[in-house]
Amino acid sequence: MATDGWDTPAGRRVRMQCFRRDRDNNAKCRWCPDPIDYSLGPYTRGGNVWAWSPEHVKPRSLYPHLALDPSNIVAAHFHCNAARGTKAGIDELGTPSEDF
Ligand SMILES: [Zn+2]
Repeated sequence: MATDGWDTPAGRRVRMQCFRRDRDNNAKCRWCPDPIDYSLGPYTRGGNVWAWSPEHVKPRSLYPHLALDPSNIVAAHFHCNAARGTKAGIDELGTPSEDF
């Protein structure tokens, strides 16, 4: 399963790196116009669903070699990320993900 390194110490470092980057830039959620409250810290399981979470522009399932590439990771509320994620399995089959 975890062949892309996301659930490893290296992956956690990349997550923190992206969190700090997005906090310093006050980055917006990829999916909605609401601001992200960076004082909540990165989302943790069972935490505030409006906290920052890392969103892969190119999905890990299709681009495992980009899983730890900070340039492939943007900010999103966990709430938005999760809502999107359940649908992504279908979208990813045929529709190319949007590029910014
Ligand atoms: Zn959002």
